[in-house]
Amino acid sequence: MHLVTVTDTNADANCRDTVGGSLFMPPGKPVPRCRICDAKMVLFFQFDVRSRFEIPFKEGSHLLVFMCPTHNEPPSLPSIYDNSPLPESYWDADDGHFSLLLFPPTELKSNGQLDAYIAPYSLAFERSQEEIQDFDDFKVGSYDFKIGGVPGWMNYRIAKQCTCGGEMSFICQTPDGFGFKQTTNAPEQPDSFSSSEYCLFLGNQVYILACNRQCDPRAVIAGCDN
Ligand SMILES: [Zn+2]
Ligand SMILES: [Zn+2]
Repeated sequence: MHLVTVTDTNADANCRDTVGGSLFMPPGKPVPRCRICDAKMVLFFQFDVRSRFEIPFKEGSHLLVFMCPTHNEPPSLPSIYDNSPLPESYWDADDGHFSLLLFPPTELKSNGQLDAYIAPYSLAFERSQEEIQDFDDFKVGSYDFKIGGVPGWMNYRIAKQCTCGGEMSFICQTPDGFGFKQTTNAPEQPDSFSSSEYCLFLGNQVYILACNRQCDPRAVIAGCDN
């Protein structure tokens, strides 16, 4: 696995591995909007997939994690938390207050604008060993902010297939209680644990998985636990 560190280096609009920062999307693609309140979503983080991460996605793919500035409940799609299969177009089946996108290696452009809510810093990745607990049916890895390795499952684990038949494979996780430093002008996030930091999905531990066939940039799910 690779530990993810938020550095103290300010990210400019050319940086593709960031918290906050300038989003890299296919040219002309707009910032996603919340389907509940129509607000432009906040870019929490983004990064390029490297082959050294040893995750089953094409090198140069790009993950973006967005959520509404005011709606921050955990994903509520029942099939993330139980044994039922993911529904067709599962990316549209939740409340619509977050957006998870994994673009294949293709030309992505920054719109040159920095996210207004999260202070822009670049991310660093460092290979690290993790302690893995081996239960009979599954393994549990570390609870770090990390890419690849074994998810730090808590009370349940996500074992899902995409509706295309691909496996939903682990990309990354953010830890329980992780804060994203906000910009000086950002309003306080409702229901956050902090007046100076935004949290993702109420600050739960967040697991992000995507279809290993990369059948659609939206074929990404998140589950929460604490
Ligand atoms: Zn909203
Ligand atoms: Zn798929």
